Amino acid sequence: MSPARPVGILGGTFDPVHFGHLRLAEELAQQLGLSEVRFIPSGKPWHRGAPGATPMQRMEMVSLAIAGNPRFVLDEREVRKNSPGYTLETLSELRQEMGSEQPVCLLVGADAFLGLPSWHRWRELFELAHIVVAYRPGFSLLQERMDEALREEVGQRTSTDPNDLQGRPGGRIMACQITPLDISATAIRAQIQVEKSPRYLLPEAVLDYIRVNQIYI
Ligand code: ATP
Repeated sequence: MSPARPVGILGGTFDPVHFGHLRLAEELAQQLGLSEVRFIPSGKPWHRGAPGATPMQRMEMVSLAIAGNPRFVLDEREVRKNSPGYTLETLSELRQEMGSEQPVCLLVGADAFLGLPSWHRWRELFELAHIVVAYRPGFSLLQERMDEALREEVGQRTSTDPNDLQGRPGGRIMACQITPLDISATAIRAQIQVEKSPRYLLPEAVLDYIRVNQIYI
């Protein structure tokens, strides 16, 4: 039997979802041969202050953004829970649903990866998934920029061959180059607030949704 194609998981606040997220998902899906990428908008985020859109609105924006791409799937579980979700909890649920052999890749940008040691029981994430890091403008993945514990994991777990990820359910770390897009949700919200247009940084359907629902103003 040929090895199973990995499933990609992309969590985020998506406040709002933008082309940085969509290119990350598309390019990593191609590079790693992912069977699907699950977008999982967070419920109440742990790592930052209150976002501008409601969890339901962030989820609807993701749904609009990924419509038409059969490989992209919206996963509503964190928004539907009324408590802030831990990534570890979400991954263990997914692991139960997908079985113990299915390779799972948690996709993160470089900024999120560098912050990993602040996540709840982060080292246990490797028992459940691989972590694939996409470069992001403004964030260096040089090991000297990493917290010591993270550097240690990177030293032990780094793979450079996508086939390594297909052959096992989790436990590896891989860094991937993607088209660098210096787009952030923070900058988009800031532009809207000063009445500048963020057009071409995010899908038109998402921008229309923001206008109609008067979000971020
Ligand atoms: P904010 O500016 O509100 O913090 P964000 O634009 O960083 O938001 P998130 O929803 O926090 O978006 O990001 C979800 C995931 O996507 C994270 O792993 C993040 O690192 C990654 N990501 C977001 N934007 C980019 C980008 N332009 N390039 C690479 N990765 C990105």
